[in-house]
Amino acid sequence: MATARSQGEVRWPAIQVLEGCTLCPVCANVCPTGAVKRVREGEEYVLELEVAACTGCGGCVASCPPQVIELVEAGRDRVLAEEPEELFRGEPEWS
Ligand code: SF4
Ligand code: SF4
Repeated sequence: MATARSQGEVRWPAIQVLEGCTLCPVCANVCPTGAVKRVREGEEYVLELEVAACTGCGGCVASCPPQVIELVEAGRDRVLAEEPEELFRGEPEWS
């Protein structure tokens, strides 16, 4: 029998980061599961997200000083990815 959702479909909370991110450490600091990390690569910083570790709690969304984080839904490929995904990268304004 057909169901509203096909068997095996995965929908999971995730976040996206819009232009205007200052690469401050707030989201990485407040995330209770460590899903968001800020990693240094040379002169740049990279914000990375492990989608499977995001609970959609919204802590980062509420705490981001310039309010550039949005909650979104991720599908199976992003949830099961072995590597964290890149949310944002750049040279911080304060460096
Ligand atoms: S998304 Fe917001 S809280 Fe996270 S590093 Fe960028 S400015 Fe800071
Ligand atoms: S929504 Fe919650 S769990 Fe997901 S990245 Fe933001 S703070 Fe972490």
